[in-house]
Amino acid sequence: MRNACIAITIDDQQWSTIYGLHHVSAAAALRDLGVDSVVVRAPSPVRSASNPRDVLADRPWVESLQNAGLRVFVAIDLFDDRALLERFPDARPVNALGEQSWAPPLDGAICPTHDGVIELLSAHVATLLDVLAPDGVTLRSAHFPGFWPDWTIEPDYPFSGEDQWCFCDRCRAAFAADAGITLSGVSIGSDAAGILALHRQPWLIWRARRLTLAIDRVLTASGARSRGIETMLATLPFVAADFGGIDVRRTIGGQDLAMLAGAIDTFELVTEMQVLNRHPVWLGQVVREAIRQLPGSRSVLCALQISPHHQGRNRASQIDVGDLSVTADAIRQAGADGLVLSSWTDLLADQFAGGRKTALVREIIAAWS
Ligand SMILES: [Zn+2]
Repeated sequence: MRNACIAITIDDQQWSTIYGLHHVSAAAALRDLGVDSVVVRAPSPVRSASNPRDVLADRPWVESLQNAGLRVFVAIDLFDDRALLERFPDARPVNALGEQSWAPPLDGAICPTHDGVIELLSAHVATLLDVLAPDGVTLRSAHFPGFWPDWTIEPDYPFSGEDQWCFCDRCRAAFAADAGITLSGVSIGSDAAGILALHRQPWLIWRARRLTLAIDRVLTASGARSRGIETMLATLPFVAADFGGIDVRRTIGGQDLAMLAGAIDTFELVTEMQVLNRHPVWLGQVVREAIRQLPGSRSVLCALQISPHHQGRNRASQIDVGDLSVTADAIRQAGADGLVLSSWTDLLADQFAGGRKTALVREIIAAWS
């Protein structure tokens, strides 16, 4: 087995704004916790293009983390960004019912086949690499639209045409040309129904390939590839058998792990158990199936959720140390290559509430080394 990777996400500035840490002492605290990598959220591409100092402001923080011996991944949302949609209104995706995604939580969803979006994202990642000099990039929201945290069982999430994306003019025309077919053109809904009824498999493969190509274009055009930057992908955690065997990661999200293995080094399965309302037993299938779909050279990490994030849909209202311990054991026993602790802000809050989870996390990390 390769060396385990223990990463932690830092999606906000609370370590400074609430807890008053200086970036040097914050980096030292993370090193003392025992993690080897941190995943820090980068400014959004439109914000950084209008104010490059936003990116520059993060440089001392990244430098302190690296000086503390930690590997730094910068995280960007590829296809979920309201400001990007304002810049490129024709990147707003369309579902199989012919509806555009105006309502939250999908109001920031972006069609992955838009050239202008891909070029702007590539320039943004190039700026992040130049200014912040990170060790890796973590790509989030790199899938076709879908608010997958709501894809719980008990209650089962009901999939429908509302969840099938993207049938915008650009996607329909490009698929028809690539498949050598003619669409009726009567309406978006009738074109979508025809594609799903008569050309379902080529359509699913085409979507997964277009998503992989979009990711590969961003990594190549930004220089991430030529610089040898490590690439991590936030990956939908579901197994093919979930939801009656419809393989939602591929057929709804468009993420095909075997295809993506050509572009991505490390796959973070976003196994947020409280959000997804799942039992730890499920984790064994999740990890083993991902490992089966990937070449042995690719790493599989699992998210370890520290505190509750969403309510409703029969979700638990808390995560106690027992839940954390059982989940971490299940991840390790399933053969994952490591953890992505989510998040540092939650652990900082725990330290002011007695630190029981923090103490357990130290034990969990020690068990991996
Ligand atoms: Zn589209």
